[in-house]
Amino acid sequence: MHQILTARETEIGPALTVRRALPNKNLKTIGPWCFLDHFGPARAPVRVGPHPHIGLQTVTWLMDGEIVHRDSLGTELSINPGQLNLMTAGQGIAHSEESPASFDGITHGVQLWIALPDAQRFCEPAFEHYPELPRLEKDGMDITLLMGTEIGENSPAQTRSPASALDIVLRDTGARTLALTPGFEYGLIVTEGEVSLDGVLLRPGSLLVPASPLAGFRIENTAPARLFIVGGAPLNEKIILWWNFVARRHEEIEDARQRWENGGFPPVTGSALQRLTAPPLDYHLGSAG
Ligand code: MN
Repeated sequence: MHQILTARETEIGPALTVRRALPNKNLKTIGPWCFLDHFGPARAPVRVGPHPHIGLQTVTWLMDGEIVHRDSLGTELSINPGQLNLMTAGQGIAHSEESPASFDGITHGVQLWIALPDAQRFCEPAFEHYPELPRLEKDGMDITLLMGTEIGENSPAQTRSPASALDIVLRDTGARTLALTPGFEYGLIVTEGEVSLDGVLLRPGSLLVPASPLAGFRIENTAPARLFIVGGAPLNEKIILWWNFVARRHEEIEDARQRWENGGFPPVTGSALQRLTAPPLDYHLGSAG
């Protein structure tokens, strides 16, 4: 049977509500995906000051709005709807994310983390921006393939372990079937409207994790709606997720925390926002901060 999980509501900055579907107390990973935030839509800017990451990749995708990304590699770049930011933290990177100062629009997007596989998690940090991605119009769906290989397309954004991500605008109403990769774990969220997935009605705030193995979904909608899907081969590695870090051992978390607090990460220049302070380590390691 399909599993329906409830996202936890939190806030990033004033007036910008986040639905955090992963990590969930009942589920830690979908393939290598270990964090899934859906924020907005809201007339609110993003204001996230410099903070560090290790052991993961961040994926940023906007349905609406604009965010300026700055990182400790010296990157400074705006992301707009339809574009993908892929940041590889590896052994360590710091970044800030903020709407332009003059921004007065609607912010709506998702941000996800991919746990790097053990063999690659200490790689050099990197940042990639993809302004163009494969798109396919099919059965009243406008599908964008963000990452990996699906729907007969290859994204230029390749993952470090088998995984994929898709955005689907349900322009037309009706029912159709979407075939995906057999053997992958999948998670689906609705980002706009409501959608019936294999007969289960889903709205923003819930995560559907289909029973595996899976050949495809039946997608039905009676009004325009939008979906976001992640998938991947089971990670089969025990990860520790604490604050902005993904690791395998608690000592690695403690080291990264200390490195950040002692100024051991290269600086993020150009952001007027205050750098974030790591929470105290008495948080229970293994639960997400
Ligand atoms: Mn971040």
